[in-house]
Amino acid sequence: MECELCGKTISGKPTKIRIEGVVLLVCSDCARKYSEFIVKRPQARAPRPIRRPKRTPLSYEPQYDIVEDYSERIKEAREMLGLTRELLARELGEKESVIRRLEAGSLVPTIDMARRLERLLRIKLLVPKGYEEEPSITTRSVRPELTLGDIVVIRERRERKRREANEGGSSR
Ligand SMILES: [Zn+2]
Repeated sequence: MECELCGKTISGKPTKIRIEGVVLLVCSDCARKYSEFIVKRPQARAPRPIRRPKRTPLSYEPQYDIVEDYSERIKEAREMLGLTRELLARELGEKESVIRRLEAGSLVPTIDMARRLERLLRIKLLVPKGYEEEPSITTRSVRPELTLGDIVVIRERRERKRREANEGGSSR
């Protein structure tokens, strides 16, 4: 067969290269020239290093404190995500009144609940016991990725569409 780049007859095995998404079978000369584009075979891939988390002894359970201003952090993050208390409660699997009490500061979340809130709202609520947190780290560190708010909006839109499809012109 011929090299798809220079047209030279390939004697041995052609080398597969990919340039801007186009896969070409090329001769060894071209392969050398474009070595950075060579498509590596899966088995040639370097084995992924297994990262073993440093295990603390099983009996050791890290102790956490809930941050002092947890109520403000929860409220601020929820509002920033455009979530109602009801929606947050639903995502959290708790009653709406629980959210209201959390935001009012009359209920301190359990460590487990705080963990779930941290994940859902992308905020920090837990600090290791005795740890003084820097005042600069706040809920403002919410990353501009797909947030819970977006997901809820997408889900609602989908539900509305499905509802409309089910009604299918019977109403109008
Ligand atoms: Zn060639």
